[in-house]
Amino acid sequence: MSLDPIQHTIEQFAKLPGIGERTALRLVLHLIAQDKNLIGLLSEALVQLEQKVAECELCHMITADGARCSICRSVSRDSKILCVVARVQDLMALEATSEFRGFYHVLHGVLAPMEGIGPQDLRIASLFERLKQSEISEIILATPSTVEGEATALYLAQELQNHLIKVTRIASGVPVGGDLQFADRLTLSRAMALRRGF
Ligand SMILES: [Zn+2]
Repeated sequence: MSLDPIQHTIEQFAKLPGIGERTALRLVLHLIAQDKNLIGLLSEALVQLEQKVAECELCHMITADGARCSICRSVSRDSKILCVVARVQDLMALEATSEFRGFYHVLHGVLAPMEGIGPQDLRIASLFERLKQSEISEIILATPSTVEGEATALYLAQELQNHLIKVTRIASGVPVGGDLQFADRLTLSRAMALRRGF
């Protein structure tokens, strides 16, 4: 028995964050009735996403540039400073300020014991692996100022205690409970400039 293509597509759309069954139905009906061209373009774009985009082997940013992202390949950045962020969007927000000239490490989440997310579920092991073979002298913890973001920063600060590396936390100019992504550029630049020791 073959799947009903309409129902099947609705189910796939409904798996996306923020899209319920009703929105999924609306999107699918729109594609069928008004924008059939877009179906081909979307399919093509999605295949490219699957085939070409991967995590950078060093910082875990998403990249379509091969094994290492353009930031990690840069020779003009300060290799002594590493900024740890929770999510890809946070890295993008910090990059948009053009103020930070060091390198990054993306954890892909924050510690959330209640949801069963522990250190092994984040890109933490590779962070410490990176420290072994680098000249990093300062780590800036730029996880969000949510309860989980603060707990993640504290965990990392404790784990980094014996590494003879200066550990700093971005200032809480970022709105409380807010994402770096939604902080304006000035606030983010200030949060970075006013970072404090742990
Ligand atoms: Zn990278």
